[in-house]
Amino acid sequence: MSVLDLARAELRALQPYSSARMEARGGTVLLNANESAWAPTGDRGVGCHRYPEPQPAELVAALTDLYRVRSEQLLVTRGSDDAIDLLVRAFCRADADAILVQPPTFGMYAVCAHIQNARVIAAPLAADFTLDVDAVLAALVPAVKLIFVCAPNNPTGQGVSHADLERLAQALSGRALLVVDEAYVEFADVPSVTGLLDRYEHLVVLRTLSKAWALAGARIGSVLAHADVIRLLRHIMPPYPLPRPCVQAALLALSGRGCANARERIAVVRAQRARLASALRGLPGVREVLPSQTNFLTVRFADAGAAYRRLLAAGIVVRDVRHFPGLADALRITLGTPQENDLVLATLQDAVTCA
Ligand code: PMP
Repeated sequence: MSVLDLARAELRALQPYSSARMEARGGTVLLNANESAWAPTGDRGVGCHRYPEPQPAELVAALTDLYRVRSEQLLVTRGSDDAIDLLVRAFCRADADAILVQPPTFGMYAVCAHIQNARVIAAPLAADFTLDVDAVLAALVPAVKLIFVCAPNNPTGQGVSHADLERLAQALSGRALLVVDEAYVEFADVPSVTGLLDRYEHLVVLRTLSKAWALAGARIGSVLAHADVIRLLRHIMPPYPLPRPCVQAALLALSGRGCANARERIAVVRAQRARLASALRGLPGVREVLPSQTNFLTVRFADAGAAYRRLLAAGIVVRDVRHFPGLADALRITLGTPQENDLVLATLQDAVTCA
């Protein structure tokens, strides 16, 4: 069985759009794509009058180096959100197939499934927010084509052990794709599972430059998967998904200096995470700070609504996650600069003192 047997049959037979940029090989006078012959005002050599390469070779090379995969195993997308949407559209037939998620988790998996009119089956995390592999396997029905595992998980912050992921990968062989969303893995103690890609053709890993690489505004993500899956997704994505300025920003971020900067900032975030967690645990209004392998802390408060309003009054916007199951008293606080984190602490400290 090929992993593509799990994909929508009509897409496997699809003749993809052949773009002008893909057909143009070797010429220097480009009159085949109805572009402007002139660069726009303020272009500074970016070349925005030309459509970009569909998968810019230089960026693909930088990302395959970074993630230690082969180029046929990688697709650059407009952030992981785009990757999640592509996967759901490629593997779920409307009104027939399903995805499986473990709430409380990242909301876009379910949103993309709903857009595609695919069902969402939930196998909740255990009470301590660890992955419950038995619950996932018990909830598995033939309609499930994609199992999204967020590792580390948003909004709870916990990591997932490789042993659990591998157990899932083994059990899902020939049945469904295991999609491991590693948006926060750079901040974690447990490394990426990309090393398992060559062993499991139905394993997909999602990575992004939005978090540790400080490029949320450039929208650059990567799907790491078997070459057949990559080819299928490439066929269904728009012809020119990656804007030239965004590609340029990503190349700068992945340069030697960019890598050194990212490494330094990851270390700062991890140190701030430990500092803020321990300081918050000392505040009387704080019930619990969940263990975090990410760049945020999810915090249970005696009165989360009051804490949210207090922070907002001080100009600090955090994420209200009280609508998630098991988090009715929690707020999610992204780690900022040390000064911003001090401000959070001072504001919550004041709130406690005033209460
Ligand atoms: N996955 C998770 C777990 C996330 O938390 C987020 C963003 N909050 C994304 C994916 C989307 O990231 P991107 O900016 O790459 O689309």
